[in-house]
Amino acid sequence: MFLLRLVDVGASRLRVINTVARILQIPLAQAKTIVDLTPDRITVGDAKRIAFVRRQLQQVGATVAVDYCPEEMHPENWVPANLSTDKVTCARCGEPLFFAIPGRTTEQETVAFAQTSKSPAFRQVASAKWIHPGVYCSNGCCFIMVNLEHPDKYSGEEP
Ligand SMILES: [Zn+2]
Repeated sequence: MFLLRLVDVGASRLRVINTVARILQIPLAQAKTIVDLTPDRITVGDAKRIAFVRRQLQQVGATVAVDYCPEEMHPENWVPANLSTDKVTCARCGEPLFFAIPGRTTEQETVAFAQTSKSPAFRQVASAKWIHPGVYCSNGCCFIMVNLEHPDKYSGEEP
């Protein structure tokens, strides 16, 4: 998930407030509060959504910035039912799942996972101190890799 920040409101504050109200579907008064009081947090969303909101605000003269927002990620949503039904343990062997979440999972956690894993598949992970973002069973019987897109990948067309 990504966070969109308002860096500079530009020449027309009113147009920016109107745009925020329209795209977030909130009352004007609430949009005004966001623009005036919390410009560092206009909205949070996935890459496509943030690209859209960014373009809308740029079109009314605002300067905005995008930050990666790891604390807003919902990695439990990455886990399909055939991998785990409780989103915590592997459906096949019952081992706890390991979540590799950029910006949240530390190098130490990744190395510890690789070193305690019974699967030879993760041996390189310990020395590389890196694993592709995703969800892994430590026994190596299942995994899912996740591709995290950046808003820059999108032109900002309406999602
Ligand atoms: Zn397993």
